[in-house]
Parts: sequence; C-alpha cells; structure tokens
Amino acid sequence: MPSPTILFAAKSEKWAEYEPALRMALQKAGVDTTGLTTEADPAEVDYIIYAPNSGLQDFTPFTRAKAVLSLWAGVEDIVGNETITMPLARMVDYGLTQGMLEFVMGHVLRYHLMIDDFLAGQDGVWRPNLVPPLARDRKVTILGLGVLGAAAAQSLARIGFDVAGWSRSPKSIEGIACYHGEDGLFDAMRHAEILVTLLPDTAATRGLINQTTLAALPHGAKIINPGRGSLIEDAALLAALDTGKIAAATLDVFTIEPLPASHPYWRHPRVTVTPHIASATRAETASETIAENIRRGEAGETLLHLVDRAAGY
Ligand code: NAP
Repeated sequence: MPSPTILFAAKSEKWAEYEPALRMALQKAGVDTTGLTTEADPAEVDYIIYAPNSGLQDFTPFTRAKAVLSLWAGVEDIVGNETITMPLARMVDYGLTQGMLEFVMGHVLRYHLMIDDFLAGQDGVWRPNLVPPLARDRKVTILGLGVLGAAAAQSLARIGFDVAGWSRSPKSIEGIACYHGEDGLFDAMRHAEILVTLLPDTAATRGLINQTTLAALPHGAKIINPGRGSLIEDAALLAALDTGKIAAATLDVFTIEPLPASHPYWRHPRVTVTPHIASATRAETASETIAENIRRGEAGETLLHLVDRAAGY
C-alpha cells in the first residue's frame, strides 16, 4: 500500500514539537510516516492535520483528502467552512481531558474551600467560624456533559460534590443529576452554587448565560467558564457581579482573545482572568488521536470524534 500523504497545516513553529510526536504515534499505529510533511501538492494529500490559525482556509484543491483532523477541541472556526467537504474530526485526547478536569477541580475547590476569603484575611484576626461545608453539601452544575464536561462532573462527584449537569440530549451518568434541553436548563441553573460552563460555541449556545439565566442561579453563585467566551453576555455578568448575585467568576475564554487590556474583567476584584490555558492540546497525546484516525482512515474504518456540522460541534 502506498504511504499516505499527511499534511501538517498548523503554525510553522509547532512543527518541531509535533514532528517527532506524530512520527512516533503513527509508527505505533502501524502507519508509514514517509508522507508526513508540511508541504505537498494539495491534489496529493490524503489527510490534513489542521489548526485554524495556520492560514489554510480553502480546502477546494485537496481533491482526494480523506479527512481534516483538527488539533483543536473547539471547532467553531471550522464548521462553517464550506470548502471542507471531507469528514472533519475534532481533538479529543487524554491530555485535553485530564488538563480540563484538573482546571475545573482546582477552581471549584478554590471557591468551595473559600480560599480567597482566607487569602484576604491574613490580618491577625482569628476567624474560627469560617468553616467550609463538606463537598456533599456543595452543589455544582456543569453545563455541557460532553467529553470534558462529563469527565469534570465525574471527578467532582467522586470526591463527594453534589453534581448536576446539562446537555442537549438526555444522558444518564452515574452519580450526576442529568438535565437536558430548554426545560432542563433552569433546573440545572437553580442547582448551581458553583456553575461550570463547558459548552461549545454554536448558534444555540451563544449568550446562554444572560440576565434571565443568571437570575435563576442561587444568590452568591460562582461561575467558572473554561468553555467559550461567547457563552456569556459580558454586560449581564458584570451587572450580576456588581449586585452580588454572582459572587465571583473565573473566566478562561473570551469573545475577543487576547482579552483587551482595557476590559473591565481585568479590573474587577472578584473576577479571575486566565489566558485560555484551561487545557492545552499537547503534541504527545494529540498525536495519538491523529494517528489512530489515520490508521482508521487507511483501514476503511469510521473515524473517531467526527464533527456534526449541522449541530455545529
Ligand atoms: P463535546 O464532547 O462536543 O461536548 C459538548 C457538550 O455540550 C455536550 O454534552 C453537548 O450535548 C452540549 N451541548 C452542545 N450544544 C448544546 C445546547 N444547545 N444545549 C445543551 N447542551 C449542549 O465537547 P468537549 O470536548 O466536552 O468540549 C467542550 C468545549 O470546551 C469545546 O467546545 C471548547 O469550546 C471548550 N474547550 C476549551 C478549552 C480551554 O482551554 N479553555 C480546551 C478544550 C476545549 P450533547 O451531549 O447532547 O451533544
């Protein structure tokens, strides 16, 4: 069998990091790596390993490509590209999942244990009544019960949190109160002393966290958003922070990134801005997903993690 031509279409500085990881993973998967390259005649390319910030937008010349394999988990910048007529797979891998559940766990525990209150109270005053509840008495809701949301929900439930989750389709996950659809959203919001948003950016999720849905949260709720900036209407969140309805927010993703230095989030005393670092794609683990999909493609098997273009994720 001729070796497949595999085009690496990401920023050029990523090649040094990815080339050895991809070669190793492809070899392990039994795929010939001779055709792994950063430059090729588009008409000869079989697979495109793709990062949307690579500059590649027009896939029309890739007449025989069997798949576009995204290095990113979020595909909002890709799903609308009508020149991608071949199957499109997104990134799901151990590193992204583990990184996200560590991020969510860390920030939930920070709020749960009232760590900010103790940091602010290093003033010589002994406050023995400031005792956090046990996790089982803390209600956490995860919006989005996909790969990342379900993993985070299960990790939180494992250490005892009272966890609810919300998705588009009905789900049954042991230890999690699962809600779905429009009707379930408000039940899920009412449960959330701590709300974690792990939804994709689609037409249906944009602006989901707005004045109306924020009003359904318990007073003094905390929000952690490692999903997408577009999920939140910033003015509504800032207003809810100012009234105390929302006690604090940790925001990792924003409508405009990098978040402009003048944005009120930077100055808000109860907002923590992190620079889209909740979970990074790591070459070693991402390459295993890419290699497995190329192996599948070559064997005529269905690819993993295919994007539902109509749903937008
Ligand atoms: P996923 O597996 O596709 O899961 C998405 C979840 O959202 C699913 O449970 C889905 O419901 C739900 N959903 C989508 N549209 C909905 C709607 N209209 N109403 C209710 N639920 C809806 O995605 P994932 O791998 O968990 O990743 C989630 C998001 O995290 C990504 O899209 C990306 O934006 C973000 N992310 C951020 C970082 C970071 O570093 N900050 C890193 C990686 C990913 P169903 O289960 O019913 O389909």
